[in-house]
Amino acid sequence: MDPGPATEEASEELEQSLARFGRSIDEIDRVLITHPHMDHFGLAGRIVEESSARVFAHTDAVERLSDPIGYFETEQAYFRPFLLSMGMPADTVDTVLELPEPYTTYQDPVAVTDELAAGDVIDVGLDLECVSTPGHVPGSHCFLAASEDVMFTGDHVLSDITPNPLLTLVPGSDDERTRSLPTYLESLRKVLELEGAATEETVGHGGHGDPIQNLRGRVQETITHHQDRKERIANLVAEHEPTTAYRIMKEMFPSLPATEMFPGMSEVIGHLDLLEDENRVVIDETDGVKLYRLSE
Ligand SMILES: [Zn+2]
Ligand SMILES: [Zn+2]
Repeated sequence: MDPGPATEEASEELEQSLARFGRSIDEIDRVLITHPHMDHFGLAGRIVEESSARVFAHTDAVERLSDPIGYFETEQAYFRPFLLSMGMPADTVDTVLELPEPYTTYQDPVAVTDELAAGDVIDVGLDLECVSTPGHVPGSHCFLAASEDVMFTGDHVLSDITPNPLLTLVPGSDDERTRSLPTYLESLRKVLELEGAATEETVGHGGHGDPIQNLRGRVQETITHHQDRKERIANLVAEHEPTTAYRIMKEMFPSLPATEMFPGMSEVIGHLDLLEDENRVVIDETDGVKLYRLSE
């Protein structure tokens, strides 16, 4: 599951870890991918070359996995005018969108052989149920091993950081962005309601960091974090209205390096989306720039 980025280091680490169990890469039957981010799936293509393993991923991840670079370019084309409309200065937009380019070398395209949808069960010696959890990215899902009180959470729930609800394109579209944070919060609530994943005994295994001893508690904590942040952003809108998402991002994270600005904008726009859904903000457009103010 989630073999890591396409680097020599990750490849060697995987080889050594398998060797500890007397196994090697060419023996791998199946690669399970939690979501289409390079730090999770990047190495999958190389594994398939060596082992002819089958590849399992959510239907909404298939296109992006098969052509990550093409996908990235389509995304860049969409987000250039989008970020301008959110008040980001043109030279900053250029820097922000160009930066990820080196990272594209950490992923090889991979063809999905087995498309997964919510409720599908994979028998890997124990039953893993596919739980669809879009938000961090479309095509994100968790694998629930209910018999073991264990859930593999990808980047949906992590032990000590809150996953970024990254803005991206709606799967299959080149001109519509996701409303990542509202979707993400819905997916968090789904985990709380899910039979077998909602107890305090359930242990989560995320893609980064330590195991999550009380998955239910951590999900609730993450929801609360976003509620608090939403109120903080509503206060910032009140202070500076009418204002842009970019201005609010600069207020929230004054010393953010350009490398972190896309996640920063995703976070702020996500909360503005929530406030919009609750009819708490109004958006006016002046010269193609979106200005947010609180509702009367
Ligand atoms: Zn991720
Ligand atoms: Zn990750």
